[in-house]
Amino acid sequence: MDVLVTLFYFLFSICVVYPPTEFVSAGFTIAQLFESFLGSENMNFIGYHMKRTTITALIHSSLPLGYVFCLLLAGDRNPWLPAAAAATAIIPLLMCYRLLCWWENGQARHPVVKSLLPYVTPGTDWRLVAANLNIEFRNVDKVAIQLNTTSRFVATETWLIKLTQYKLNVVKQGDCTLVATATDSHNLTPSGEDEVQYVNIEAIPTRDDVERFTFRISTTALRDLQPRLSQAVRVPDHISLLPTLIERFVTVFKQYVDQNPVYYVDQELELCIGCMQYPADVKLNKRCVAPPPHLEGGPPPCTQCNCRVLWCCSCMGRWWAARAQGPPAGWLAGRATCPVCRAAFCLLDVCPARAPGS
Ligand SMILES: [Zn+2]
Ligand SMILES: [Zn+2]
Ligand SMILES: [Zn+2]
Repeated sequence: MDVLVTLFYFLFSICVVYPPTEFVSAGFTIAQLFESFLGSENMNFIGYHMKRTTITALIHSSLPLGYVFCLLLAGDRNPWLPAAAAATAIIPLLMCYRLLCWWENGQARHPVVKSLLPYVTPGTDWRLVAANLNIEFRNVDKVAIQLNTTSRFVATETWLIKLTQYKLNVVKQGDCTLVATATDSHNLTPSGEDEVQYVNIEAIPTRDDVERFTFRISTTALRDLQPRLSQAVRVPDHISLLPTLIERFVTVFKQYVDQNPVYYVDQELELCIGCMQYPADVKLNKRCVAPPPHLEGGPPPCTQCNCRVLWCCSCMGRWWAARAQGPPAGWLAGRATCPVCRAAFCLLDVCPARAPGS
């Protein structure tokens, strides 16, 4: 019986400290169970996390005492049990004392407040910084990335924040350099199409009073994060970030397009209307042969597109990939339609376009 209780309680404790995703979706996490006490994270970000870290520390410190109680309830009559109860009761009591220290004297010793103190201008209160952070967190253009079930990384217009169980790391974007330190890749499928790469990023503050921190995100999440950062994440030469599936597709797409015959136009090529960065350099020119009559009834055959040269090869490749169906291995064999006139075309019909004399 004791072994069963011990095993059960051990598993329960792990699930409380590191909740698996099933617990999170079932609403069984400290933050979700105490939702009404914590209030709204969106309205009062700092206040919410001050309360959340306090409750988390208190609950985690009570877990050993809970174990002794479980043994008592299970009918264990070990003579040492009352002594164990007294000993384990000391842990939450000490924690209560510590939490009281956090909250007294204007909460200046609370770890969440401590992380804001470097940004408090002399003569003002930490609540000013907190109010600024709260306002920015409410903004819809922040980027929040879930690192695991208990930690999160948030980038607002001027702040970078890492939220963990007991504390917050806060740094101003302007005072900090983000450097990729390592990567690791995982294959989800044997063919390697769904390769996922994670990057470890270290936030190195330029001020000595702000603590460094690291976080680990997927390359895809990093791409979502980049536009929100005032300075891009520095990637040292020895680290290579995995291109996304679309980027890899566009590279292959370009190789195939280059094998098609060149289409010469009699005027200068304009900028691509998709990206406005590179000259338009592909022309949709029907070259493929219509399917023989006995195969008719399949997908609609290609038609001639009469549009001018409007797109660059990368934009056309991305357009193709965005509309492709089925597994990526079959994308090149499919068909797309001209973004402007909707004429169907296949890969054979995408010709590199050149202006005269180039
Ligand atoms: Zn383009
Ligand atoms: Zn067209
Ligand atoms: Zn075709």
